[in-house]
Amino acid sequence: MEWIEISLSVDGESAEAVAELLQRYGHQGVVIEQDNIEQEAWDDGDIPPVTTLTIRAYIPADPRAEEAKLRLENALGHMSLMYPMPRPVYRVVHEEDWAEAWKAHYHPIRIGKRLFIRPLWVQMETDPEDIEIALDPGMAFGTGTHPTTQLCMESLEAHVQPGIKVLDLGCGSGVLGIVAAKLGAHSVLALDIDPIAVRVTNENAQQNGVAEKITAQEGSLESIVHSARRFDLIVVNIIAKVIIAMCEQHLGDVVRPGGMALFSGIIEDQADDVEAALIKTGLQPLSRRKQGDWVCIEAHRAGQH
Ligand code: SAH
Repeated sequence: MEWIEISLSVDGESAEAVAELLQRYGHQGVVIEQDNIEQEAWDDGDIPPVTTLTIRAYIPADPRAEEAKLRLENALGHMSLMYPMPRPVYRVVHEEDWAEAWKAHYHPIRIGKRLFIRPLWVQMETDPEDIEIALDPGMAFGTGTHPTTQLCMESLEAHVQPGIKVLDLGCGSGVLGIVAAKLGAHSVLALDIDPIAVRVTNENAQQNGVAEKITAQEGSLESIVHSARRFDLIVVNIIAKVIIAMCEQHLGDVVRPGGMALFSGIIEDQADDVEAALIKTGLQPLSRRKQGDWVCIEAHRAGQH
């Protein structure tokens, strides 16, 4: 079977809108890559330079592909009234190359103080105190290169205490759950509505020696909100709209009193609306981390353990 890769290189401002659009056409979601990551920029904690993001999606190369391309180009035409919009680039990829297609763009990165994320197929020298995570995201989102993933990782590094119970909601490749486990969490429940993400999370957990701590399941908030399960920390890196909808479904209830909640996938303009929704579900926003236009909101639930 053959697939058509659609890719567009955009700036941070239009990235979310383009990703949302491609999501409608792409099979199993979209891949967002940050180009030109400067490793040194991370070492001294600087804000990285504004970079280009490449958004990729894949559609089956079948008779409906031409129509999908036309509809996509139409929609991009509308969007170009608001943002400068490059033309999409199409490329045919074979099934076996499909999951490999993005690998050429994926490089090791350092995050926070000690986290070191590398592609599974790249060996690197690390410092003894580094916490190394090796990933093969396959078709699941979560190479660790997206700013929202990086913000969540920094925040996890600051907030994960040994022995805690963590929920990784929208786990993608499992990257955040694995980081939490490696930082000493006792257990992680990793949920995603995409079965591919569940499979990839299990594989990556195994690869990183934390399979015993991580339970990956297909599902979302509804599979836990009515149970008595409470978490010391939850991390939700999806998009603002979904986070707000989850707040209306009592997302705050799954955080134990005194527990922490980290949210990303949010662009700065949406952060106030997300915080308002967090307050309604019983969470208190504490601080924001920023990278470019992206924000990670750190919140907690009032009360004692
Ligand atoms: N946690 C990873 C992946 C984030 S991408 C990272 O930080 O890099 C967002 C993920 O959320 C995708 O894998 C998508 O399938 C999943 N997702 C989207 N809507 C969801 C929902 N309502 N419930 C659970 N998962 C969802």
